[in-house]
Parts: sequence; C-alpha cells; structure tokens
Amino acid sequence: MENKKQLIETVHHRIQRAAACAGRSAEDITLIAVSKMKSVNDIIAAYEAGVRHFGENRAEELEQKSAALNDLKDLQWHFIGHLQSRQSMPIAKFAHCFHAIDRLKIANHLSRQLQELGHTLPVFIEVNVSGEQSKGGFDCADWENSHDQRGAFLDAVKTIAALPNLPVRGLMTMAPFNAPEADIRSVFRRLRQLSEWLNTELPELDARALSMGMSGDFEIAIEEGATHVRVGSAIFGGRR
Ligand SMILES: *Cc1c(COP(=O)(O)O)cnc(C)c1O
Repeated sequence: MENKKQLIETVHHRIQRAAACAGRSAEDITLIAVSKMKSVNDIIAAYEAGVRHFGENRAEELEQKSAALNDLKDLQWHFIGHLQSRQSMPIAKFAHCFHAIDRLKIANHLSRQLQELGHTLPVFIEVNVSGEQSKGGFDCADWENSHDQRGAFLDAVKTIAALPNLPVRGLMTMAPFNAPEADIRSVFRRLRQLSEWLNTELPELDARALSMGMSGDFEIAIEEGATHVRVGSAIFGGRR
C-alpha cells in the first residue's frame, strides 16, 4: 500500500519535472494508471493514493472491474486497447473515454450503441505515424509528404466527428519499443504536428488532446505535448 503511494508520487514528480522542462503546467496532463492484468485491490490502492483515471485493454476485464468498483463514483475508465465490434458493448456502457478508434467500422458501431444507451463517449483517434506493421491506427506514416494520405485521414476524421454521441477529443499513438530516444521523440512530435494541422483544417473540431507516452517514454511525450499519459508498469510493476 505504502509502496504504491510512493510509486505514484514518483510518477507525479516525473510528470512535473518534464512539464516544467517544457514550460507546461502539470495540471494540463492527465495521468492514466494502466491497470490491465492487475487486481481490483491494486486499483483500490492507487485510488486511495489519489489516482482517478484507470486504463484497461480487455472488454471483459473492464466490465468485471467496473462492476466491482461501482461504488467509486469519480473513478474514470479509459479503454486503451484495440476493440472488436462484438466486444464493444461493455465499452459503450462502462468506459468514460476510448483511446483507440482505429477504423471507421468501430466508430460507427460504438456510435449506434451509445445512442441506444443514451451515453456519450469521448474518443481519441489512433494514428500510426511510425509505419511499424505491428502498430494499429490510421496510417499516417508519411502524412507530411503524401497528399493522399493526409486527405484520407482528414476524411476519416470528418466522418467520425459527424457521428452522434462520439465526440473526438484528439489523437493517440504508441511509440516504437526499445528505439533510440530520437526516434521516439520524432513519433511524438509528428503526432503533435499532425494534430496541429488537423485542427487548422477543421477549426470547429477542437480535438487538441494528445494521448501518448507510457512508463518508458512519458517524459519525452510530455515534452512533445502529451495531455494524457498511459502509465502501467511504473505504477503497478511488471505484468508477467
Ligand atoms: C499496456 C499499455 C500501456 C502501459 O504500458 P507500460 O509500459 O506498462 O506503462 C500504455 N498504453 C497502451 C495502449 C497499453 O496497451
């Protein structure tokens, strides 16, 4: 318990230091504690240490944990993983934010379910700027040079933004694992630049949030403009 509190304090200090370095306020950065594969008791310990945002990446796990922790009314669930259409109902019902809209099909599907439920779900659109095959998201690996790629992405964002009950908050990406710092920084910077371009093209969209940065790279992400960092192992320890 004490240990968890210290780990969270350390993460908060790291966020503050990175924000200060970048001339930003730490208050503009939301810490999402990624609790996937961790127990309800682990989540309660983090909650008692002041964390309110939790990240999960399996629909069934989110459903079980949100039922178990239903009494904690100010706890916010962020779904951060790839979502299959047939598993989307628990997300429409229980998530407070979804970070991985990676195709139009899932956006359409969620929007319909949300309308039936009378819920609204803020979303991030997942973007692949690194071009890695293993990464999900809309392909923006060459957006600066490819007029077609930019255009296709803009059309996709317009389509998603027009869907009822699914407000677009911003963009999300994952940096390459075990890459040199310069490569990681470049991915985050290019996502921020894409976001700036997008918001110039669609000023009424106001989708300026950036979900980027994990335990190993969230300081770099904050220096490059992250508003939401998704931190798992630095808070909860390893998962295997
Ligand atoms: C697991 C996961 C994280 C957290 O990873 P850590 O390295 O443990 O901080 C962040 N984002 C996504 C999408 C994840 O799946």
